[in-house]
Amino acid sequence: MAKKTTEEPVAKPVNPPSPPRPHSPTDKSPDLRKGVPEGLWIKCPGCLATIFRNEALKRLDVCPECGYHWPVPAQQRIAQIIDEGTFEEWDADLVPGDPLSFVDRRPYVDRVRSDQAATGLKDAVITGTGRIRARKVAIGVTDSRFIMGSMGSVVGEKLTRAAERAAETGLPLIIISGSGGGARMHEGILSLMQMAKVSAALARLHEAGGLFISVMTNPTMGGVAASFASLGDLIFAEPKALIGFAGPRTIKATIKIELPKGFQTSEFLLEHGFIDRIVKRGDLKSELARAIDYCNK
Ligand SMILES: [Zn+2]
Repeated sequence: MAKKTTEEPVAKPVNPPSPPRPHSPTDKSPDLRKGVPEGLWIKCPGCLATIFRNEALKRLDVCPECGYHWPVPAQQRIAQIIDEGTFEEWDADLVPGDPLSFVDRRPYVDRVRSDQAATGLKDAVITGTGRIRARKVAIGVTDSRFIMGSMGSVVGEKLTRAAERAAETGLPLIIISGSGGGARMHEGILSLMQMAKVSAALARLHEAGGLFISVMTNPTMGGVAASFASLGDLIFAEPKALIGFAGPRTIKATIKIELPKGFQTSEFLLEHGFIDRIVKRGDLKSELARAIDYCNK
């Protein structure tokens, strides 16, 4: 069992989540529309082709025509990557508090509760241990459906603990990021502090000789891109993922020049040395196993 971090998370139980709702086309929640939509035939947002839904599902939620990668729920991602029956979740009971009694268009507690019900998650990350083609790993997966995959106290604490456990046990650490939200503003500075906290834990993992592979998926933005997601010994990205700090529209409006073609895509960032490899979803499990072997972990 890993040692506890010195700082307890700002986490106290909110109301227990209701059972997950089925994914339905009539559901108004934008979070649920991000994955492969319902229906026999669906329209690909990448190439606008109408495709047979089952063809996308067979390819792990990838368009058979253009290779567009739909965002994948964290539970499904773990099933894609981790050998069946080997996953053990860590810290599943951590739930977010509401330290600021934050209200924007609606109270933060309501937002948390409805995303818990919609996703079956307690917060935007799942961490745990399991095997990738028989290699034991520590893994964390963020989920863009839960408040845009943003990092509040719970996400920061769970990833910190995962990094600490990886350092203690010598397991390779893999974090798969799907986060358009960056640091979660609803928890104010406590969210911003998570950037430093996770980064420090990853530095200790590095000093202990550990291996950390970061996998960026569409989207990986803000405080997530600016902390743990960019700190991998190896950084993989899915094709055509949006990766950056501020979004392209904000940057364009600020600096008032035309941004280069493909700005903030995986392909652009590979060309500029920011990431190490673009890995298609269907190859990710094998590539992770190969990288772990290559690094002799
Ligand atoms: Zn397509």
